[in-house]
Amino acid sequence: MRVVIAGAGLSGLMAGALLARQGHSVTIADKAQILRPLGAGLLLQPPGMAVLHRLGVLDGLTEKGRRITSLFATTTRGRPLLDVRYSTLKPGLFGLGLARADLWQSLIDSCHSNGVSFVTGQAVTQVHDHAEQPALELADGSRLSGDLVIDASGCHSRLRDCWSAAQDRLYPWGCLWTSLVLPDRWPDDVLLQRCHGTRSMLGILPIQPGRAAFYWSVRNDRVASVKEAGIDAWRRAIQRQWPELGPLVEFVGWDDLEHASYRDVWVRKPYGQRCVVIGDACHGTSPQLGQGTTQGFRDAATLVDCLEAVGGDPAVALPEWWRIRRSALSYYRDASRLLTPLFQSDWSGLAVLRDLFAIPASHLPGVGRLAVESLAGTRTGFFSSEKLPPPFCD
Ligand SMILES: Cc1cc2nc3c(=O)[nH]c(=O)nc-3n(C[C@H](O)[C@H](O)[C@H](O)COP(=O)(O)OP(=O)(O)OC[C@H]3O[C@@H](n4cnc5c(N)ncnc54)[C@H](O)[C@@H]3O)c2cc1C
Repeated sequence: MRVVIAGAGLSGLMAGALLARQGHSVTIADKAQILRPLGAGLLLQPPGMAVLHRLGVLDGLTEKGRRITSLFATTTRGRPLLDVRYSTLKPGLFGLGLARADLWQSLIDSCHSNGVSFVTGQAVTQVHDHAEQPALELADGSRLSGDLVIDASGCHSRLRDCWSAAQDRLYPWGCLWTSLVLPDRWPDDVLLQRCHGTRSMLGILPIQPGRAAFYWSVRNDRVASVKEAGIDAWRRAIQRQWPELGPLVEFVGWDDLEHASYRDVWVRKPYGQRCVVIGDACHGTSPQLGQGTTQGFRDAATLVDCLEAVGGDPAVALPEWWRIRRSALSYYRDASRLLTPLFQSDWSGLAVLRDLFAIPASHLPGVGRLAVESLAGTRTGFFSSEKLPPPFCD
């Protein structure tokens, strides 16, 4: 098949690499003139790592990244809020902390070595879903046509009008993030978070030997005033909330800190006759549960499996793809909508409840398991989960 993809983000690159490896001819179009990774780091869950394994790049990336064994969050006063350990699901299990640049480079290399071609510097303006010749329309009016069209244009996509979106809302809160050098004795296998009410959350995720992604949550409409107050005031605020971070942010300047915003996106019917929308463009969430990339990778891998199972007929493969993906994606959408206000919102009262009840609630029967499965990316619903995929299952 000739496959054309809108968006060279992590989901589009993964779909492109997997499809090209199957022998399809793949072209990816991105609006960026020069393709490059965006952001500091991310935590990949075992089902996402399984897709990297399938592509043959997991071992190399595991060497570059850090094995994260648990998520540990406290209040500024040191009261524990979350203590979720992968090993409670399976001894030795871990999530993978990765620098975005490392993951991106590995996917770009896979695309190049499998013959994917790129069209850059032109936004896609329309997705045309024709039974005979589906196509992407580019800003200059030209068309890229194929046998299958994939929209992987991310949560801020302007192509949303091409789909019947049930939800498309910008979260009022985003974050400033960068990567930092870690001191020698910092634990390099734990994602650490520190929350002050619901208005300030700091996180440190180890992503390379001696390096971590750092994020600080902030209301999108306050970024300008924070910057106006000056970098020293910002550094002091970080130090007040988490004194050990003081020396780490001492040399961070505004140029190092990137502002990220996120959307709550849900496309009701994310496929047509020969077109499909995957990744954040289909199901964007806040990054609270660390699932976006893993779910985008799973979209791509399931799509390839469905196409292969039916001999490449999109009209049959696409509804089946959505039947398989829908339950897990609905769960992560709902869980993310429930949890996000507890960690990033103006509703301070929620923090009081969270701080009082989070740890006692985690001891209730089934809740600990729900938490670790939700983090590990294996939940398919509030009452259902799936097995770990190879190579993590016995
Ligand atoms: C602060 C933060 C922390 C996160 N942490 C994690 C984490 O720990 N774990 C995790 O799994 N996920 C995390 N995520 C989520 C994760 O980054 C996303 O889920 C993932 O990057 C989505 O990939 P995507 O390819 O679907 O979309 P994107 O990465 O947004 O890529 C979309 C691509 O499409 C291109 N594009 C957009 N519109 C057009 C157009 N009209 N024409 C052509 N090209 C277009 C863009 O240039 C871009 O290259 C985090 C996100 C944020 C913001």
